[in-house]
Amino acid sequence: MDLYEYQGKELFRRFGIPVSEGRLATTPEEARAAAEEIGGQVVVKAQVLTGGRGKAGGVKLADDPDDAEQKARDILGLDINGHVVRKLWIESASEIAKEYYLSVTFDRGQKQPLFMLTTQGGVEIEQVAEETPEALARLHVDPLEGYQPWQARRLIYGASIDDPNEQKQLLSIVEKLYRCFVETDSMLAEINPLIVTPEGEVKALDSKFTVDDNALYKHPDVAEMRDVEAADPLETFAREKGVTYVKLDGDVGILGNGAGLAMSTVDVVAHVGGRPANFCDLGGGGDAEGVVDALEVITRDPQVRSIFFNIFGGITRTDEVARGILAALDRMDISQPIVVRLDGTNAEEGRRILADANRPNVYPEATMLDGARRAVELAK
Ligand code: GDP
Ligand code: MN
Repeated sequence: MDLYEYQGKELFRRFGIPVSEGRLATTPEEARAAAEEIGGQVVVKAQVLTGGRGKAGGVKLADDPDDAEQKARDILGLDINGHVVRKLWIESASEIAKEYYLSVTFDRGQKQPLFMLTTQGGVEIEQVAEETPEALARLHVDPLEGYQPWQARRLIYGASIDDPNEQKQLLSIVEKLYRCFVETDSMLAEINPLIVTPEGEVKALDSKFTVDDNALYKHPDVAEMRDVEAADPLETFAREKGVTYVKLDGDVGILGNGAGLAMSTVDVVAHVGGRPANFCDLGGGGDAEGVVDALEVITRDPQVRSIFFNIFGGITRTDEVARGILAALDRMDISQPIVVRLDGTNAEEGRRILADANRPNVYPEATMLDGARRAVELAK
Protein backbone atom coordinates (compact mmCIF):
# COMPACT_ATOMS: atom_id res chain seq x y z
CA MET A 1 0.00 0.00 0.00
CA ASP A 2 1.30 3.41 -0.98
CA LEU A 3 0.84 6.32 1.38
CA TYR A 4 0.16 9.92 0.48
CA GLU A 5 2.83 12.48 1.21
CA TYR A 6 0.92 13.83 4.20
CA GLN A 7 0.49 10.34 5.66
CA GLY A 8 4.17 9.56 5.24
CA LYS A 9 5.00 12.85 6.90
CA GLU A 10 2.74 11.94 9.79
CA LEU A 11 4.83 8.78 10.25
CA PHE A 12 8.02 10.86 9.99
CA ARG A 13 6.68 13.16 12.68
CA ARG A 14 5.87 10.24 14.97
CA PHE A 15 9.42 8.91 14.60
CA GLY A 16 11.00 12.32 15.18
CA ILE A 17 12.09 13.18 11.64
CA PRO A 18 11.69 16.96 11.17
CA VAL A 19 8.83 18.05 8.90
CA SER A 20 6.98 21.33 8.42
CA GLU A 21 3.67 22.10 10.02
CA GLY A 22 0.75 21.45 7.69
CA ARG A 23 -2.98 20.85 7.23
CA LEU A 24 -5.11 18.80 4.88
CA ALA A 25 -7.66 20.59 2.66
CA THR A 26 -10.20 19.36 0.13
CA THR A 27 -11.67 22.70 -0.96
CA PRO A 28 -10.22 26.14 -1.78
CA GLU A 29 -11.97 27.51 1.32
CA GLU A 30 -10.31 24.92 3.52
CA ALA A 31 -6.99 25.76 1.90
CA ARG A 32 -7.50 29.42 2.78
CA ALA A 33 -8.39 28.55 6.38
CA ALA A 34 -5.34 26.29 6.62
CA ALA A 35 -3.09 29.06 5.32
CA GLU A 36 -4.59 31.46 7.86
CA GLU A 37 -3.91 29.06 10.73
CA ILE A 38 -0.39 28.28 9.59
CA GLY A 39 0.48 31.90 8.84
CA GLY A 40 3.09 33.30 6.46
CA GLN A 41 3.99 31.83 3.13
CA VAL A 42 2.67 28.32 2.50
CA VAL A 43 3.10 25.67 -0.14
CA VAL A 44 -0.02 24.09 -1.66
CA LYS A 45 0.64 20.48 -2.63
CA ALA A 46 -1.49 18.02 -4.59
CA GLN A 47 -1.93 14.74 -2.72
CA VAL A 48 -1.86 12.00 -5.33
CA LEU A 49 -0.19 8.61 -5.34
CA THR A 50 2.30 9.48 -8.07
CA GLY A 51 5.58 11.36 -8.32
CA GLY A 52 6.55 14.40 -10.38
CA ARG A 53 3.85 16.60 -8.92
CA GLY A 54 6.12 19.62 -8.96
CA LYS A 55 6.71 19.39 -12.71
CA ALA A 56 3.01 18.79 -13.37
CA GLY A 57 1.99 22.01 -11.60
CA GLY A 58 0.77 20.26 -8.47
CA VAL A 59 3.08 22.09 -6.03
CA LYS A 60 2.75 25.86 -5.69
CA LEU A 61 3.89 28.52 -3.26
CA ALA A 62 1.29 30.95 -1.93
CA ASP A 63 2.06 34.25 -0.24
CA ASP A 64 -1.12 34.69 1.77
CA PRO A 65 -4.50 33.01 2.43
CA ASP A 66 -6.04 34.64 -0.68
CA ASP A 67 -3.27 33.27 -2.81
CA ALA A 68 -3.53 29.84 -1.16
CA GLU A 69 -7.22 29.72 -2.03
CA GLN A 70 -6.41 30.63 -5.63
CA LYS A 71 -3.60 28.07 -5.91
CA ALA A 72 -5.89 25.43 -4.39
CA ARG A 73 -8.48 26.23 -7.07
CA ASP A 74 -5.81 25.73 -9.74
CA ILE A 75 -4.56 22.42 -8.38
CA LEU A 76 -7.81 20.70 -7.29
CA GLY A 77 -9.16 18.60 -10.14
CA LEU A 78 -5.83 18.60 -11.95
CA ASP A 79 -4.97 15.30 -13.62
CA ILE A 80 -1.43 14.23 -12.71
CA ASN A 81 -0.37 11.08 -14.56
CA GLY A 82 -3.96 9.84 -14.50
CA HIS A 83 -4.53 10.73 -10.84
CA VAL A 84 -7.14 13.43 -10.23
CA VAL A 85 -6.30 15.74 -7.34
CA ARG A 86 -8.97 15.68 -4.61
CA LYS A 87 -6.83 16.47 -1.56
CA LEU A 88 -4.27 19.13 -0.82
CA TRP A 89 -1.58 19.41 1.79
CA ILE A 90 -1.01 22.98 2.89
CA GLU A 91 2.30 23.38 4.61
CA SER A 92 4.41 26.19 5.98
CA ALA A 93 6.82 27.08 3.17
CA SER A 94 10.49 26.38 3.66
CA GLU A 95 13.48 28.23 2.32
CA ILE A 96 15.75 25.86 0.50
CA ALA A 97 19.53 26.12 0.40
CA LYS A 98 20.22 22.52 -0.65
CA GLU A 99 18.17 19.55 -1.78
CA TYR A 100 19.39 16.09 -0.76
CA TYR A 101 17.88 12.65 -1.25
CA LEU A 102 17.60 9.89 1.35
CA SER A 103 15.79 6.59 1.11
CA VAL A 104 15.69 3.12 2.54
CA THR A 105 14.19 0.38 0.48
CA PHE A 106 14.14 -3.38 0.45
CA ASP A 107 16.81 -4.88 -1.77
CA ARG A 108 15.37 -8.28 -2.65
CA GLY A 109 18.56 -9.43 -4.38
CA GLN A 110 20.63 -8.87 -1.25
CA LYS A 111 17.73 -9.70 1.08
CA GLN A 112 18.63 -6.61 3.08
CA PRO A 113 17.39 -3.05 3.50
CA LEU A 114 19.37 -0.62 1.35
CA PHE A 115 20.02 3.03 2.18
CA MET A 116 20.71 5.57 -0.53
CA LEU A 117 21.88 9.11 0.08
CA THR A 118 22.96 11.82 -2.34
CA THR A 119 23.37 15.58 -2.32
CA GLN A 120 21.79 15.61 -5.80
CA GLY A 121 18.21 15.59 -4.50
CA GLY A 122 15.04 17.07 -5.88
CA VAL A 123 15.27 15.12 -9.13
CA GLU A 124 14.38 11.51 -9.91
CA ILE A 125 16.85 9.20 -8.23
CA GLU A 126 17.07 7.03 -11.37
CA GLN A 127 18.51 10.05 -13.15
CA VAL A 128 21.18 10.50 -10.47
CA ALA A 129 22.03 6.79 -10.60
CA GLU A 130 22.46 7.03 -14.34
CA GLU A 131 24.23 10.36 -14.78
CA THR A 132 26.31 10.72 -11.61
CA PRO A 133 26.47 7.27 -9.98
CA GLU A 134 29.55 8.33 -7.97
CA ALA A 135 27.39 10.90 -6.15
CA LEU A 136 25.03 8.21 -4.86
CA ALA A 137 26.06 6.55 -1.60
CA ARG A 138 24.56 3.09 -1.08
CA LEU A 139 24.69 1.00 2.07
CA HIS A 140 23.05 -2.25 3.11
CA VAL A 141 21.97 -2.93 6.67
CA ASP A 142 22.21 -6.48 7.91
CA PRO A 143 18.83 -7.03 9.57
CA LEU A 144 20.26 -9.58 12.00
CA GLU A 145 22.92 -7.17 13.16
CA GLY A 146 20.43 -4.31 13.13
CA TYR A 147 21.19 -0.66 12.64
CA GLN A 148 24.55 0.63 13.90
CA PRO A 149 25.52 4.32 14.04
CA TRP A 150 28.68 3.70 11.98
CA GLN A 151 26.42 2.85 9.07
CA ALA A 152 24.93 6.34 9.01
CA ARG A 153 28.42 7.84 9.28
CA ARG A 154 29.68 5.77 6.37
CA LEU A 155 26.62 6.75 4.33
CA ILE A 156 27.10 10.45 5.10
CA TYR A 157 30.83 10.39 4.26
CA GLY A 158 30.02 8.34 1.15
CA ALA A 159 27.78 11.16 -0.05
CA SER A 160 30.58 13.69 0.69
CA ILE A 161 28.55 15.67 3.19
CA ASP A 162 31.21 17.37 5.29
CA ASP A 163 29.36 20.08 7.23
CA PRO A 164 29.44 18.90 10.88
CA ASN A 165 26.11 20.52 11.63
CA GLU A 166 24.44 18.68 8.74
CA GLN A 167 26.24 15.46 9.64
CA LYS A 168 24.87 15.56 13.15
CA GLN A 169 21.28 16.03 12.00
CA LEU A 170 21.62 13.42 9.26
CA LEU A 171 22.97 10.86 11.70
CA SER A 172 19.78 11.20 13.69
CA ILE A 173 17.50 11.27 10.62
CA VAL A 174 19.07 8.13 9.11
CA GLU A 175 18.60 6.25 12.37
CA LYS A 176 15.00 7.40 12.73
CA LEU A 177 14.21 6.58 9.12
CA TYR A 178 15.52 3.06 9.66
CA ARG A 179 13.37 2.61 12.74
CA CYS A 180 10.37 4.03 10.92
CA PHE A 181 11.00 1.68 7.96
CA VAL A 182 11.36 -1.43 10.11
CA GLU A 183 8.66 -0.69 12.65
CA THR A 184 6.00 0.01 10.01
CA ASP A 185 7.07 -2.99 7.88
CA SER A 186 7.74 -0.76 4.91
CA MET A 187 9.10 -1.66 1.50
CA LEU A 188 10.18 1.89 0.72
CA ALA A 189 10.62 5.10 2.71
CA GLU A 190 11.97 7.94 0.61
CA ILE A 191 12.66 11.60 1.34
CA ASN A 192 13.13 13.64 -1.83
CA PRO A 193 14.02 16.35 -1.26
CA LEU A 194 15.55 16.24 2.16
CA ILE A 195 16.41 19.91 2.39
CA VAL A 196 18.91 22.06 4.20
CA THR A 197 17.52 25.50 4.98
CA PRO A 198 19.70 28.65 4.83
CA GLU A 199 19.88 28.40 8.64
CA GLY A 200 21.30 24.89 8.31
CA GLU A 201 18.25 22.96 9.43
CA VAL A 202 17.78 19.56 7.74
CA LYS A 203 14.18 18.44 7.15
CA ALA A 204 11.93 16.27 5.04
CA LEU A 205 10.08 18.25 2.39
CA ASP A 206 8.45 15.26 0.72
CA SER A 207 7.72 11.65 1.58
CA LYS A 208 7.13 8.51 -0.42
CA PHE A 209 6.10 5.40 1.45
CA THR A 210 5.18 1.89 0.47
CA VAL A 211 4.13 -0.37 3.30
CA ASP A 212 3.83 -4.14 3.07
CA ASP A 213 0.16 -5.10 2.69
CA ASN A 214 0.84 -8.45 4.32
CA ALA A 215 1.95 -6.76 7.52
CA LEU A 216 -0.90 -4.26 7.77
CA TYR A 217 -2.72 -6.41 10.30
CA LYS A 218 0.08 -5.54 12.72
CA HIS A 219 -0.36 -1.82 12.14
CA PRO A 220 -4.00 -0.79 12.43
CA ASP A 221 -2.97 2.87 12.56
CA VAL A 222 -1.28 2.54 9.17
CA ALA A 223 -3.99 0.27 7.73
CA GLU A 224 -6.60 2.92 8.36
CA MET A 225 -4.68 5.32 6.14
CA ARG A 226 -5.92 3.38 3.13
CA ASP A 227 -7.83 5.69 0.85
CA VAL A 228 -11.11 3.90 0.22
CA GLU A 229 -12.35 6.62 -2.13
CA ALA A 230 -9.39 6.33 -4.49
CA ALA A 231 -9.62 2.54 -4.64
CA ASP A 232 -11.80 0.67 -7.10
CA PRO A 233 -15.26 0.51 -5.43
CA LEU A 234 -15.65 -3.15 -6.39
CA GLU A 235 -12.33 -4.06 -4.81
CA THR A 236 -13.28 -2.14 -1.69
CA PHE A 237 -16.58 -4.02 -1.53
CA ALA A 238 -14.68 -7.30 -1.98
CA ARG A 239 -12.31 -6.43 0.83
CA GLU A 240 -15.23 -5.67 3.12
CA LYS A 241 -16.70 -9.08 2.27
CA GLY A 242 -13.36 -10.79 2.83
CA VAL A 243 -13.23 -11.93 -0.80
CA THR A 244 -9.89 -11.99 -2.62
CA TYR A 245 -10.78 -10.17 -5.81
CA VAL A 246 -9.00 -8.22 -8.52
CA LYS A 247 -11.05 -6.49 -11.18
CA LEU A 248 -10.06 -7.02 -14.81
CA ASP A 249 -11.84 -5.58 -17.81
CA GLY A 250 -13.38 -8.56 -19.63
CA ASP A 251 -16.80 -10.21 -19.46
CA VAL A 252 -16.17 -13.74 -18.11
CA GLY A 253 -16.44 -13.75 -14.32
CA ILE A 254 -14.00 -16.18 -12.75
CA LEU A 255 -14.03 -18.01 -9.47
CA GLY A 256 -11.46 -20.60 -8.48
CA ASN A 257 -10.45 -22.14 -5.19
CA GLY A 258 -6.86 -21.30 -4.41
CA ALA A 259 -4.90 -18.42 -5.89
CA GLY A 260 -2.93 -20.69 -8.23
CA LEU A 261 -6.01 -22.28 -9.74
CA ALA A 262 -7.80 -18.94 -10.01
CA MET A 263 -4.81 -17.50 -11.88
CA SER A 264 -4.63 -20.51 -14.19
CA THR A 265 -8.34 -20.07 -14.85
CA VAL A 266 -7.76 -16.47 -15.90
CA ASP A 267 -5.05 -17.73 -18.29
CA VAL A 268 -7.15 -20.54 -19.72
CA VAL A 269 -10.10 -18.24 -20.36
CA ALA A 270 -7.77 -15.85 -22.19
CA HIS A 271 -6.18 -18.80 -24.02
CA VAL A 272 -9.50 -19.88 -25.54
CA GLY A 273 -10.18 -16.34 -26.74
CA GLY A 274 -12.19 -15.00 -23.81
CA ARG A 275 -11.69 -11.91 -21.70
CA PRO A 276 -11.61 -12.49 -17.91
CA ALA A 277 -13.67 -10.00 -15.91
CA ASN A 278 -11.80 -10.63 -12.70
CA PHE A 279 -9.56 -12.78 -10.60
CA CYS A 280 -11.34 -14.27 -7.59
CA ASP A 281 -10.09 -16.80 -5.10
CA LEU A 282 -12.71 -18.64 -3.09
CA GLY A 283 -10.01 -19.78 -0.67
CA GLY A 284 -10.08 -23.05 1.17
CA GLY A 285 -13.78 -23.24 2.02
CA GLY A 286 -16.67 -23.60 -0.34
CA ASP A 287 -19.63 -23.15 1.93
CA ALA A 288 -22.73 -21.30 0.76
CA GLU A 289 -21.69 -18.17 2.66
CA GLY A 290 -18.37 -17.93 0.85
CA VAL A 291 -19.96 -18.63 -2.53
CA VAL A 292 -22.68 -16.02 -1.97
CA ASP A 293 -20.09 -13.41 -1.00
CA ALA A 294 -17.93 -14.15 -4.04
CA LEU A 295 -20.91 -14.19 -6.41
CA GLU A 296 -22.17 -10.93 -4.98
CA VAL A 297 -18.84 -9.30 -5.73
CA ILE A 298 -18.45 -10.82 -9.21
CA THR A 299 -21.98 -9.99 -10.36
CA ARG A 300 -21.73 -6.40 -9.17
CA ASP A 301 -19.54 -5.81 -12.19
CA PRO A 302 -22.06 -4.94 -14.94
CA GLN A 303 -19.68 -6.21 -17.62
CA VAL A 304 -19.95 -9.83 -16.46
CA ARG A 305 -21.90 -11.95 -18.98
CA SER A 306 -21.02 -15.45 -17.83
CA ILE A 307 -19.36 -16.97 -14.79
CA PHE A 308 -16.88 -19.81 -14.63
CA PHE A 309 -16.53 -21.73 -11.36
CA ASN A 310 -13.35 -23.75 -11.47
CA ILE A 311 -13.07 -25.93 -8.39
CA PHE A 312 -10.49 -28.52 -7.60
CA GLY A 313 -11.24 -30.31 -4.37
CA GLY A 314 -8.21 -31.06 -2.28
CA ILE A 315 -9.09 -30.07 1.24
CA THR A 316 -12.22 -28.48 -0.16
CA ARG A 317 -14.95 -31.03 -0.75
CA THR A 318 -16.54 -30.39 -4.11
CA ASP A 319 -19.92 -31.78 -2.99
CA GLU A 320 -19.94 -29.03 -0.41
CA VAL A 321 -19.11 -26.45 -3.06
CA ALA A 322 -21.94 -27.81 -5.23
CA ARG A 323 -24.37 -27.38 -2.33
CA GLY A 324 -22.91 -23.94 -1.73
CA ILE A 325 -23.54 -22.92 -5.31
CA LEU A 326 -27.14 -24.15 -5.18
CA ALA A 327 -27.77 -22.46 -1.85
CA ALA A 328 -26.27 -19.26 -3.21
CA LEU A 329 -28.53 -19.43 -6.26
CA ASP A 330 -31.53 -19.86 -3.95
CA ARG A 331 -30.57 -16.71 -2.10
CA MET A 332 -29.57 -14.57 -5.04
CA ASP A 333 -31.09 -13.64 -8.31
CA ILE A 334 -28.38 -14.31 -10.86
CA SER A 335 -29.14 -13.83 -14.52
CA GLN A 336 -25.75 -14.82 -15.96
CA PRO A 337 -25.10 -18.46 -16.95
CA ILE A 338 -22.75 -20.27 -14.59
CA VAL A 339 -20.36 -22.91 -15.88
CA VAL A 340 -19.14 -25.25 -13.16
CA ARG A 341 -16.18 -27.55 -13.36
CA LEU A 342 -15.74 -29.75 -10.32
CA ASP A 343 -12.84 -32.09 -9.90
CA GLY A 344 -11.02 -33.76 -7.01
CA THR A 345 -12.45 -34.79 -3.65
CA ASN A 346 -16.04 -36.05 -3.97
CA ALA A 347 -16.29 -34.68 -7.52
CA GLU A 348 -18.72 -37.35 -8.67
CA GLU A 349 -21.09 -36.58 -5.85
CA GLY A 350 -20.68 -32.86 -6.49
CA ARG A 351 -21.57 -33.23 -10.14
CA ARG A 352 -24.51 -35.47 -9.30
CA ILE A 353 -25.85 -32.85 -6.88
CA LEU A 354 -25.67 -30.21 -9.60
CA ALA A 355 -27.22 -32.53 -12.21
CA ASP A 356 -30.08 -33.50 -9.88
CA ALA A 357 -30.83 -29.84 -9.13
CA ASN A 358 -31.30 -29.30 -12.85
CA ARG A 359 -31.00 -25.50 -12.81
CA PRO A 360 -31.47 -23.91 -16.20
CA ASN A 361 -28.50 -21.53 -15.90
CA VAL A 362 -25.96 -23.96 -14.45
CA TYR A 363 -23.72 -25.74 -16.97
CA PRO A 364 -21.51 -28.51 -15.55
CA GLU A 365 -18.34 -29.29 -17.50
CA ALA A 366 -15.82 -32.05 -16.82
CA THR A 367 -12.54 -30.28 -17.61
CA MET A 368 -11.04 -26.85 -17.11
CA LEU A 369 -10.55 -26.33 -20.84
CA ASP A 370 -14.12 -27.32 -21.73
CA GLY A 371 -15.42 -25.16 -18.90
CA ALA A 372 -13.46 -22.17 -20.15
CA ARG A 373 -14.66 -22.69 -23.73
CA ARG A 374 -18.27 -22.98 -22.61
CA ALA A 375 -18.05 -19.85 -20.42
CA VAL A 376 -16.50 -17.85 -23.26
CA GLU A 377 -19.19 -19.10 -25.67
CA LEU A 378 -21.95 -18.11 -23.22
CA ALA A 379 -20.48 -14.62 -22.79
CA LYS A 380 -20.98 -13.85 -26.48
P1 GDP B 1 7.23 15.87 -6.25
O1 GDP B 1 7.51 16.73 -7.44
O2 GDP B 1 5.98 15.08 -6.43
O3 GDP B 1 8.38 15.02 -5.85
O4 GDP B 1 6.92 16.88 -5.04
P2 GDP B 1 7.87 17.53 -3.94
O5 GDP B 1 7.18 17.51 -2.64
O6 GDP B 1 9.21 16.90 -3.96
O7 GDP B 1 7.98 19.03 -4.41
C1 GDP B 1 8.53 19.36 -5.65
C2 GDP B 1 9.45 20.56 -5.53
O8 GDP B 1 8.73 21.68 -5.06
C3 GDP B 1 10.57 20.35 -4.52
O9 GDP B 1 11.66 19.68 -5.06
C4 GDP B 1 10.90 21.79 -4.15
O10 GDP B 1 11.81 22.31 -5.08
C5 GDP B 1 9.57 22.50 -4.31
N1 GDP B 1 9.02 22.75 -2.97
C6 GDP B 1 8.25 21.91 -2.23
N2 GDP B 1 8.01 22.44 -1.01
C7 GDP B 1 8.63 23.65 -0.99
C8 GDP B 1 8.78 24.67 0.00
O11 GDP B 1 8.29 24.58 1.13
N3 GDP B 1 9.51 25.77 -0.35
C9 GDP B 1 10.08 25.89 -1.57
N4 GDP B 1 10.79 26.98 -1.82
N5 GDP B 1 9.98 24.95 -2.52
C10 GDP B 1 9.26 23.84 -2.23
MN1 MN C 1 9.59 14.80 -4.25
